[in-house]
Amino acid sequence: MPEPVIELDRVRKDFPSRPPVRALADVSLRVDQGDYVAVIGPSGSGKSTLLNVLGLLDRPTSGSYRLDGTETTELADGARTRLRGRRIGFVFQSFHLLAHRTVVENVMLAEIYGDHARKGRRERALAALERVGLGHRVGFLPDRLSGGERQRAAIARALMGEPSLLLCDEPTGNLDSRNTEAVLDLFDELREHGLTILVITHEQEVSDRAARRVRITDGVLVEEA
Ligand code: ADP
Ligand code: MG
Repeated sequence: MPEPVIELDRVRKDFPSRPPVRALADVSLRVDQGDYVAVIGPSGSGKSTLLNVLGLLDRPTSGSYRLDGTETTELADGARTRLRGRRIGFVFQSFHLLAHRTVVENVMLAEIYGDHARKGRRERALAALERVGLGHRVGFLPDRLSGGERQRAAIARALMGEPSLLLCDEPTGNLDSRNTEAVLDLFDELREHGLTILVITHEQEVSDRAARRVRITDGVLVEEA
């Protein structure tokens, strides 16, 4: 039996704005180790809010969220930050690479916690770059890389803490279809090694490659067949 990585049980997120907004309406979702889930839905439907809750960047108003078996909703801020650093990698549409640092230096700058933070940062960064197929680009500055290579460098940085879960918000939004394919191939490879991946996307190429697809509409999540 695969182990659950994400277990959301009736997670609600209300923003006390005027008028108040229910961004997540009793969302339940289980994602197992090695799953690849695409989250689709129109703008304003709650996708980023879901990602923020899953990434321990925001707390639900009610409901429970277990990450790798740990109930997270009542944890203190410091414990949540450490859990995030150990378990979660983030990938965004823009790559957030520093222009005046080489690829390997950018990867070394990953925020990580625990033992990972102390031992051989450079060796770890080089290994992460090998893993994403950028072993031949370690000394390059970001502007010498293609868009797909930049995103792979950002993924290498996200892998530095050896996360169990990769959370991606429109990871191919800035890429042409050839580079999109390269990133999707990499996701397949990472999954085969047990990484769990959840991707917000509005691109069909991306959701077609996912094993599961969930749609959010007005904060309500429905799994598609
Ligand atoms: P998506 O990522 O699918 O475009 P979001 O999760 O960003 O949607 O937003 C879902 C809903 O929650 C929207 O109605 C948005 O206006 C509202 N929302 C998001 N963040 C906040 C916030 N910090 N304060 C008030 N309302 C918010
Ligand atoms: Mg969004």
